[in-house]
Amino acid sequence: MNSLKDNFLRVIDYLRLSITDRCNLRCIYCMPPDGIFPSSHKEILSYEEIIRIVRIAAGLGVKKVRLTGGEPLSRKNVTFLISSIKKMKGIEDLSMTTNGVLLEKYAGEIADAGLDRVNVSIDSFDPARYRDITRGGDLDIVLRGLEAAEKAGLKPIKINMVPIKGINDDEIIDFARLTLFTEYHVRFIECMPSGSVDFWNTERYITTDKIKKMIETIAPLEPVRARKNGPSKYYRLKDAKGIVGFISALTHHFCEDCNRIRITADGKIRPCLFSETEIDLKTPMRSGVDDSEIERLLKLSVELKPKGHNLNELPSEVQKITSCSSLIAQHSKKRPMSKIGG
Ligand code: SAM
Ligand code: SF4
Repeated sequence: MNSLKDNFLRVIDYLRLSITDRCNLRCIYCMPPDGIFPSSHKEILSYEEIIRIVRIAAGLGVKKVRLTGGEPLSRKNVTFLISSIKKMKGIEDLSMTTNGVLLEKYAGEIADAGLDRVNVSIDSFDPARYRDITRGGDLDIVLRGLEAAEKAGLKPIKINMVPIKGINDDEIIDFARLTLFTEYHVRFIECMPSGSVDFWNTERYITTDKIKKMIETIAPLEPVRARKNGPSKYYRLKDAKGIVGFISALTHHFCEDCNRIRITADGKIRPCLFSETEIDLKTPMRSGVDDSEIERLLKLSVELKPKGHNLNELPSEVQKITSCSSLIAQHSKKRPMSKIGG
């Protein structure tokens, strides 16, 4: 059995594929109000190109694939891509991160095509606030999408929430409470500076430690051991059906557990979310290289994975946050999250 190991002995078996940089929402922390100029159809990888890359990656040891974007459900005929990837030898888990706007329409089809699970991003259960955060989104549609996803068996459903001080932090406890009576995995993602959006600042930022403390006022959080979580840390509130997770890009070491590489919609391999290093796959593919060259480039991207983004070595939390903001902004300035595939 092949396996991809980087220079720090991390096994890389997870590929995150951004299949579009277009989106039907404009979340305040992710996009400017007018959106981001999307790549043209020719600029992004075709399904055939994506399928070829995934097949070669699976041959090297990639077992898990996540489709993301932009909004992956807004790309036409995504069921074709799902069924093609799902059939591939070596792929054990195929999931998607979506804003849920089109889930009601597509949940059944994507489940039938072979998608295993969905992560749905929801930052508020208050319709007016949801509309403000997403600049126009309709919460009802997304809630109906969640129901449809459950019915279609796309489980466990993970809900991604980005807590922002003064905007939705008063809902953190309600989000966590959801796990008491549903099997949802509710994951709190630390807000990261996005290269193209002038939104992030220390006033708005909430650390995972603070979020955890807020949640622990309702019940103790018991760590959940899982075989491999990558950068997420999982807990269960006492007697809860579901799980609470934390993704702390800025304040906690998660690099040592990193198991992934990313491919952008326009065909660049991104070894690390926080590094500008990218390897172009699209140009060589379109100039006719054979599979061994794609294999070499995928292996090279794994070799280029840095040990970490080194933002955790700073002494105090405040210093950490302040330094992070400029460093990460610098790192991510070329591509916003919607173009990398968050
Ligand atoms: N459009 C889909 C969605 O929103 O789920 C998939 C792409 S989106 C870039 C993937 C995830 O990244 C979402 O959960 C979103 O909340 C998160 N995200 C985007 N910008 C972020 C930021 N600046 N900080 C933290 N998370 C962010
Ligand atoms: Fe679109 Fe997802 Fe970014 Fe929101 S977070 S603007 S839904 S890509």
